[in-house]
Amino acid sequence: MKTLLLPLLLLAVAPAAHANADFAACLSRLRAEAPSNQVHPDTFDRLTAGLAPDPTVLEALDRQPEFVTPIWDYLAALVDQERIDDGAAALKEWGAVLDKVAAEYGVDPATVVAVWGVESNFGRNFGSRPLITSLATLSCEGRRQSFFRGEFFTTLRIVQEGHIAAERLTGSWAGAFGHTQFMPSTFMRVAVDFDGDGRRDLIDSVPDALASTANYLKRAGWRTGETWGYEIRLPAGFDESIAGRKARRPVSDWVRMGVRRIDGSPIAPDDTSAAVLLPAGVAGPAFLVFRNFNAIYSYNAAESYALAIAHLSDRLRGGAPFVIAWPTDDPGIGRNERRELQQLLLDRGHDIGEVDGMIGSRTRAAIAEEQTRLGFEANGRAGRKILEALKAAR
Ligand code: CA
Repeated sequence: MKTLLLPLLLLAVAPAAHANADFAACLSRLRAEAPSNQVHPDTFDRLTAGLAPDPTVLEALDRQPEFVTPIWDYLAALVDQERIDDGAAALKEWGAVLDKVAAEYGVDPATVVAVWGVESNFGRNFGSRPLITSLATLSCEGRRQSFFRGEFFTTLRIVQEGHIAAERLTGSWAGAFGHTQFMPSTFMRVAVDFDGDGRRDLIDSVPDALASTANYLKRAGWRTGETWGYEIRLPAGFDESIAGRKARRPVSDWVRMGVRRIDGSPIAPDDTSAAVLLPAGVAGPAFLVFRNFNAIYSYNAAESYALAIAHLSDRLRGGAPFVIAWPTDDPGIGRNERRELQQLLLDRGHDIGEVDGMIGSRTRAAIAEEQTRLGFEANGRAGRKILEALKAAR
């Protein structure tokens, strides 16, 4: 027994020390590459002194989504009344800046504010992980090291050039930061100094962040004054296989097939290129989307994300909710209702932590338990059905 104990103890202690030695060796290799990445060795030494790897970013890198969010849940949280109200307040507060941004980059205030609201909840959620630590860790371990090395060196350059102080640079585990959650390479490519202080600061300058977002969209092909798209009514028997963001045709083709505005009015049959988007198939809302939809899409490469921003921008212009309902008998709920649901779960003795409107694994487990008790499908979703059931039982 004794002979077995010692190796086991060593095994338990060794990995951490080993990982730190590997990390130190990796950092010294990166230091040698610093000059060719436009980072001065002094900058490198100053910003990496005492740096330790953060293994939790590697867990995030490999995390598989345990739960696929239906589009109606995704949109219910991103375009809820709270975000529409906050967006309206932001439009008012930053109106003068947004008008200047629109004049310079050609992107309207509602679109810019919608991106801001979805990316960081208007500056409330930047992410709290130190960027240099996260990106150094991802540069030395895990998948996609060469990609993250580029982002790591770019982060050091951002500090070196005096745009943002290292201690202000926190963000997501992957390195997206600031009001508009740019990656460092995106920052280098499109961030602008709009308040004129000589620094491009997406963390402590709202004008810099708003103008940088507009510049991003402009570079992504934004067409001033054009719509992203609108909800449509499909003709009976519409062939679902010809839909899809990339399956563009002249508007006149769609009109010939019987596509109309959602209120039934005709669409002018011109030769503008457009696609039919069916986020939940023919049974759900349908949209005709144009080039500006793709500009928004390029921000995060997800159609649900682009639709959230596009729809939020419409709501900020006074637009209405979608006319066609999502094909579900259990619609999504906004953050206010999510908080209400969490409070109901707490009241029933579930240990779900704080009421924060964020549906994490503990909230989902508690919902699943209540669903089982009620004889519902135990899918752990925070939807209208479970909320109403728990409210009725209160
Ligand atoms: Ca500035």
